[in-house]
Amino acid sequence: MPETPVPGDGPLLTVDGLTAGYTGVPAIRDLSFTVGAGEVVSLLGPNGAGKTTSLLAMVGLVPLMAGSVTALGAAVDPKRPYKLARRGVLLVPDDRGIFPGLTVRDHFRLAQRKADPAREEAVLGRFPALRGLLARRVGLCSGGEQQMLTIAKALLGRPRVLMIDEMSLGLAPKIVQEMLPSIRALAREEGIGVVLVEQHIELALSVSDRGVILNHGRVVLEGAARDLLAHRDQVEAAYFGAEEFAGAEVGA
Ligand code: ATP
Repeated sequence: MPETPVPGDGPLLTVDGLTAGYTGVPAIRDLSFTVGAGEVVSLLGPNGAGKTTSLLAMVGLVPLMAGSVTALGAAVDPKRPYKLARRGVLLVPDDRGIFPGLTVRDHFRLAQRKADPAREEAVLGRFPALRGLLARRVGLCSGGEQQMLTIAKALLGRPRVLMIDEMSLGLAPKIVQEMLPSIRALAREEGIGVVLVEQHIELALSVSDRGVILNHGRVVLEGAARDLLAHRDQVEAAYFGAEEFAGAEVGA
């Protein structure tokens, strides 16, 4: 995977005034945030808040109506989303993108454009539970194991920016509790910029640098994760739609 230079020490991902939606109707309006190397930013909010739409727009799969998305120093080109993936900006969808009839090893092969045993070893080192499952059909793996595989597949491509949509969907809270810290660790250790879409607010914030809370397609509260965790009342009110929080900074 060729390394794409990012000018200076600038962010890996810059979302500026992003407005996007379907058939001319915005599902997300005026979203702005940045993600630097090694940072985790959580996009939080209730069902239908616009989290998935934001991720899809960031990789060019939903057209922008206004604003811009810059990834690894270049504007995202909605006509060529595959180019973005090749440059290392990867979206991990909430449906996990796996084939139940294929084995874990098959998925490892499919995820690599060129076999890279050293990388494979490094990824298995991060998710050791997968090592004993290489020959198992993915349809027989547990939800947590499937989710590990989904993240492992993305890591095989040496991503620079990883967007993870509701990793915890269908998983027991205990499994989520175990997996989210590994996302924090891989961001730090590999310098990956991570955008995390989550329903588990506290768990997500506990592994994030910053949080952005969306409601009805708008940013209703944002700030440093530790400040959001310290003002849970504000977070809850924003999450459940209190109007006075529209666009607020936490603690303000
Ligand atoms: P959830 O947590 O339930 O996945 P979300 O925050 O990810 O929700 P989105 O899936 O981005 O929310 O949806 C935002 C809005 O856009 C919702 O009103 C939804 O009904 C609408 N929407 C999503 N996908 C489409 C589509 N393909 N066509 C039209 N409207 C859509």
